[in-house]
Amino acid sequence: MNQINLSLPDWVELFLNEQPKVLPTQEEQMRFVLALTERNIREKTGGPFGSAVFEIDSGQIVSVGVNVVVQENCSAAHGEMMALMLAQKKLSHFDLGAPNFPSHRLVTSGKMCAMCLGNVCWSGVKEVLSSAEPEDVESITGFDEGPTPPDYNAQLERRGIKIIPGLLRSEGQKVLKLYVDLGGIIYNPERK
Ligand SMILES: [Zn+2]
Repeated sequence: MNQINLSLPDWVELFLNEQPKVLPTQEEQMRFVLALTERNIREKTGGPFGSAVFEIDSGQIVSVGVNVVVQENCSAAHGEMMALMLAQKKLSHFDLGAPNFPSHRLVTSGKMCAMCLGNVCWSGVKEVLSSAEPEDVESITGFDEGPTPPDYNAQLERRGIKIIPGLLRSEGQKVLKLYVDLGGIIYNPERK
């Protein structure tokens, strides 16, 4: 019981085999992440959230993540967390911004929750692209995004992390709606 193992669903490997390894533009990267997220919804393997880490200059995919909270019995297993942890594992380093590494970007289907925002600050990524906004997530699905700071974007920029929110936002909203339409479960911690 002294070890943690978290896995992405089995279909992810097949999905990646069908995709290009390099996606040069921000829009291509976001469409890839939204397709990954949609697949997670249709396969019913987790919540409606997906992410990927890319090398900024080359557009090479480093890692992907989807929400596997329910499957893995782990409230920390958000898509962003999985993608960042897998990128760090792949590069054998806790800091994706370490010297000699190319600059990395996190691309995510929805703007980060309180936990993932924290991990982004620690992860060493230099840039974040997100699609759906927290109010989209809360109004469309009912997931609670948690207490993120009101000056979220400025907080990241102050740490040298560029944020581009709302990229292909309406497509991000569509993916959230698909989850609800297909009867995906909405889980939140029990609170008084
Ligand atoms: Zn999160």
